[in-house]
Amino acid sequence: MALDSRPRLVLWDIDHTLLESRGIGHDVYERVFPAVTGEPLRELSLVQGSTELDIIHNTLRLHRLDCTQGSVTRLAAALADGYREAVDELTTRGRVLPGAWRALADLAADPGTWQSVLTGNTTEVARIKVEAFGLDRYLDLSIGAYGDDHRDRAELVGIARARAGRQLGSEVPADRVVLIGDTPNDVAAALVAGARIVGVATGKYSADALRAAGAPVVVASLTDLPALRGVLG
Ligand SMILES: [Mg+2]
Repeated sequence: MALDSRPRLVLWDIDHTLLESRGIGHDVYERVFPAVTGEPLRELSLVQGSTELDIIHNTLRLHRLDCTQGSVTRLAAALADGYREAVDELTTRGRVLPGAWRALADLAADPGTWQSVLTGNTTEVARIKVEAFGLDRYLDLSIGAYGDDHRDRAELVGIARARAGRQLGSEVPADRVVLIGDTPNDVAAALVAGARIVGVATGKYSADALRAAGAPVVVASLTDLPALRGVLG
């Protein structure tokens, strides 16, 4: 059978898939929340697999604060500032997960494969995290989709496809899009959008939980390059 020559788009989740920031996200929220809202941060809404817009909305609501466009925008901007100030902490406390560098380099060697991110982080915070560790060497951030593009993670797949299509000058079919992520929300986003998914059990969710969410292939970590390759073909 002839090789499929249509472009392929690999969209990486960031947190607990490519890297872990080890509590810095919570710390940054704690630092910037009072300045924006006048209230101390008492509770952060569920973070895993959520988009930042969702986290901001739900966290404001948990504090019985008004959730206006203005307050959401101010908090998102303050978070980016907070991360910018925490870059040194990010690189000393955080780390790139085992196998990530090799997997990125391996896929980068494939002609016809483009790599970017599909993440709940805002565009700015995603850029700060990825660049802090130098992972932007392999990722074209201009064709990714982010947690400030849409509240619903599944919508991010279409946004990334549209961006990639414009950049490449040719449409990327949904079945040539592969998401790699660590949460049931990553799995659901891919399945709803007709994309493929590889679950990576390096976050809060077990391989069984990711399989139960519908991921046909789950790897224990990105060091399992043969399994990853098997899915990508
Ligand atoms: Mg994640």
